[in-house]
Amino acid sequence: MELLFYLPRDYLDYSVVTPVALLKDGAMAATHVRIQSEPRIFHASGMTVITVQASDETGAVALKWFGQPYRCTQVHTGMMVYACGRISMKKGCALINPTLNAKLPGTLPIYPTVKGLSQRTIRDAVFSALRSCWNEIQETLPLTILANYELCTLQLALRHVHFPSSPELLKIARRRMTFENMLCYLLTVEIEKQERQRLIGISFETLDLKERFLQKLPFAPTQAQLRVLCDLEQDMSSAVPMNRLVQGDVGSGKTVIALYALTVAAANGYQGAMLAPTEILAQQHFDLVRTFFGDTAVLLTGSMKKAVREAALNRIADGTAICVVGTHALFQQEVRFQRLGVVVTDEQHRFGVRQRATMQEKGIRPDVLVMSATPIPRTLALLLYGDLDVSIIDELPPGRKPVKTHIIPTEKRTDMYRYIAEAAKNGLQTYIVCPFIEDSELLNAPSVESVFQFMKMQFPKIRIAALHGRMTELEKQRIVHSFRDGDIDVLVTTTVIEVGVHVENACIMAVEGADRFGLSQLHQLRGRVGRSTKQAYCFLLNSSETETAEKRIDILAKTNDGFEIARQDLALRGPGDFLGLRQHGEGDASLIRNALDMELIEQVKLAVRDVLDLPNTENQTLIEYALRRYDNALSGIAMN
Ligand code: ADP
Ligand code: MG
Repeated sequence: MELLFYLPRDYLDYSVVTPVALLKDGAMAATHVRIQSEPRIFHASGMTVITVQASDETGAVALKWFGQPYRCTQVHTGMMVYACGRISMKKGCALINPTLNAKLPGTLPIYPTVKGLSQRTIRDAVFSALRSCWNEIQETLPLTILANYELCTLQLALRHVHFPSSPELLKIARRRMTFENMLCYLLTVEIEKQERQRLIGISFETLDLKERFLQKLPFAPTQAQLRVLCDLEQDMSSAVPMNRLVQGDVGSGKTVIALYALTVAAANGYQGAMLAPTEILAQQHFDLVRTFFGDTAVLLTGSMKKAVREAALNRIADGTAICVVGTHALFQQEVRFQRLGVVVTDEQHRFGVRQRATMQEKGIRPDVLVMSATPIPRTLALLLYGDLDVSIIDELPPGRKPVKTHIIPTEKRTDMYRYIAEAAKNGLQTYIVCPFIEDSELLNAPSVESVFQFMKMQFPKIRIAALHGRMTELEKQRIVHSFRDGDIDVLVTTTVIEVGVHVENACIMAVEGADRFGLSQLHQLRGRVGRSTKQAYCFLLNSSETETAEKRIDILAKTNDGFEIARQDLALRGPGDFLGLRQHGEGDASLIRNALDMELIEQVKLAVRDVLDLPNTENQTLIEYALRRYDNALSGIAMN
């Protein structure tokens, strides 16, 4: 039975015959041909190769098999067959390892591979499972849902999703399976959300805290920030535990929002925790938080010395640490809070969804605020953050000029470095980001080491430093600090500075081997500059000259809108790569893949309402089924 839910990942379309003259290199096709010669056998690199000539009215095609000696006995001159397989035009027109069929095979399922099992074996197993379980297949969806949303029955769907008798039926079957999948998932999310809303969390007193907080800021908040602060004020004063996502492009001023949440907690005698994905960012937040909370702010990271760490842990446990900033180190079991009131996660997309829950459990229903700069399409957001309320900062602080982005051709590289050196003389700071720490023959992009050496030799007067993940945290801290203090002009670095790092005077960002980074990642990197009213520049250098590489980079040069960039990145890379999904189960992956089907999702959302609004037995059964199925879905997803 379970085998029936092992769904194909793709299909081979052998439902129409392609005339030989129309065969295209690399495609999979079904042909209807007459064998024109007896098989020829030869051996190449230890493998038996068999070829025969074949043709239809439009042209000739060779059939070639590698390592399948038995094919010899299957073909002879004059025979008519449906030969199906991959076309190669390298040495004349040929079908490689074709299957031979007496009739047109139709649309064939391709399953996610299992070690040691051929597609044919899986297909046969599924086929006999389908036959033997046919009468036991029980409908999972209520009949009203099937009727209202024009879905076929599970029986029919399973049959045609595995062995479609036509492309139309396949479409109908797939729609039904996807619909059910998505419905179960969104039902689960919605139910969990409702459960949360019934919980009693902390009702913080907010009084005039917001006004007083705003007075302490060195600038007036943007309208967008103000709106989000009001959302927070409401959430935190209500008894329902807050569960809010703040989305805002790089540089939109999300940190202020976090500070306010921490302030409200502190004023009510509660502790707050702020999580950051890197030590550099944690340290930076800590420096800022300390100006608000003084000695009651505490830092906890993985690289701390034992004694310092112990002291921090003690102060977190006895409640004298009011504001705790840290990295993943905060998740550890030994970290116990006395009275945790709010958990803030910065750059949420770097943390898994499950990790969010770990922190929550360290308090008694604390308020939760997560912040992210990676904008994702609305439907995908619904899927990943469906249980969160969302606030958006859609406005940059006043006076920001868009970063001017240029693609630098290789022959202009030296000019670019000269420009950077010149800028340094005028007091402007630069980041140079390289994809690797050291040069290697395999990698044709300059490394941190080589760029650092090159700059030092060419421009001895420029103060320059290297920064990368192989240094100790202490060294890294020291360098970031001196860069911030203006004692370093040029920082040659890896992506350790990708998220959150804030140095106002840095105005130039050069990225070597830019084609090696994801678009959203490049957008994050570019967000390190242009963080003041000065005009900032971003230079992108390609290490490969392929057309796709150029096309990708071009998108970045054309727009500064993170949302648009994410959309195009997603379109180019596909959701699997975009979300780092490779290591996840097929179930999650198919959810995500289908998340982009707006029309379907809108319908599923309606169906979720239908099911929840009418508590009859059928719907109740579906809800229980959904909860069993999606208890842990998507919990491990982190974006990159
Ligand atoms: P991000 O959303 O990328 O985390 P930050 O919170 O780091 O952005 O803010 C970027 C910079 O903008 C910081 O220097 C911050 O002090 C400044 N900033 C934030 N809000 C405003 C504002 N309303 N007016 C002027 N500057 C602001
Ligand atoms: Mg930030």
